[in-house]
Amino acid sequence: MTKQNKEYYKLYTPCYLIDKKQFLSNLHTIKENFQKEWSKNVLLGYSIKTNHLSMLIQLAQNEGMAAEVVSDDEYYYALKHGYNKKNIIFNGPQKSEQYLIDALKNKSIVNIDNLEEINIIKKRYNEIVKFNPKIGLRLNFDLEALCEKETTAGEIGSRFGLSIENGEFEQAVNDLLDLHIKISGLHLHYSTKTRSLNVFEKLAEKACEVSEQYDLIPNIRYIDIGGGFWGGRILEGKPTMGEYSRKISDTLKKCFNPDNVKLILEPGAALLATAVTYYSSIKNARRVKDMLYLTVDGSLLHINPFLIHRQVDYKIYASGENRVPKQTICGATCLEKDRIIYLENEKELRVGDYIQINHVGAYTMGFNNYFINTPPYIFLKEDMKVTLIRDKNKKLMFEI
Ligand SMILES: *Cc1c(COP(=O)(O)O)cnc(C)c1O
Repeated sequence: MTKQNKEYYKLYTPCYLIDKKQFLSNLHTIKENFQKEWSKNVLLGYSIKTNHLSMLIQLAQNEGMAAEVVSDDEYYYALKHGYNKKNIIFNGPQKSEQYLIDALKNKSIVNIDNLEEINIIKKRYNEIVKFNPKIGLRLNFDLEALCEKETTAGEIGSRFGLSIENGEFEQAVNDLLDLHIKISGLHLHYSTKTRSLNVFEKLAEKACEVSEQYDLIPNIRYIDIGGGFWGGRILEGKPTMGEYSRKISDTLKKCFNPDNVKLILEPGAALLATAVTYYSSIKNARRVKDMLYLTVDGSLLHINPFLIHRQVDYKIYASGENRVPKQTICGATCLEKDRIIYLENEKELRVGDYIQINHVGAYTMGFNNYFINTPPYIFLKEDMKVTLIRDKNKKLMFEI
């Protein structure tokens, strides 16, 4: 096979293949649906932590997305990619004083996560007030009580944002009021297991309720609903972007006017998951008891870095004709848990055959590591062309 062959990447396993068209299609689907249901006054933030590849950040930027960052390091990284500070949404629980103040002076969209950040604002008030900074507050409330068994944190509650129930949110509101600093936004990112419409309805309702209760409506310029959407493919029982955008917009419109309130979305997995596919080839086969074990050159760590129990969406390319009762495809590492796919009554896999794992663009590459192997190759598919964008850097493994 030569490099002209558009499937030549299959010779370089393990590898990720990024599908530019799918990425853009996901992005446009999200944007168009929200613009239709809310208004043109919509801003999408690219969640850098979900996939920090330069090439994707660049694409997102070209498409008019803001950068959504959750650390000083990501803020700096966004700047290095040419982002204007005004176009950075600064979230997360670990902002340093230096970065927080700089972001506020330069009109980044800053969502305050905790009271320490309020203390920093109090302390440095004189420096920042003349810049009329954009300050939003991240809400923490008992979402689990409103959406039973749906949130990731569960009954113990989320650990992010300013708690409404415990009065920390009110404290932040009053402190900013004392300083005559306007609260221009609310941030409501929640991680849920279900990604349901019910969750987003409750988030939007809470945004209204809190804004009315604390008399924030006259100053609110944005509602940032965060990420947490299901997306990139249509599956029965899962909400579509059309349904998300309608539910969120209809609920928010009961108290906010789309002409002067921007709706911000921070889709991570919904934008990225389906844009990347993973390939790995079979290196050897063995039998243990009644199982045929196939070891591939990749690892579960590359597609499911927390090794959580989860169904993978895959395709196998088996050259054997006979069906085998039980086969297990395992990763190359020494972890017993590094088992990728279990097959029953499928065609026999042989050395040199390969597997394809779909929808691996979110929360995978950021966790690539140097455990036993250097990280996989990365290829980019655009139009009919496939290019290598990350080599397997063997040298690096010994340098760091
Ligand atoms: C991680 C994160 C996102 C992206 O979340 P998804 O569930 O992948 O959509 C958005 N906003 C914030 C604040 C985040 O921490």
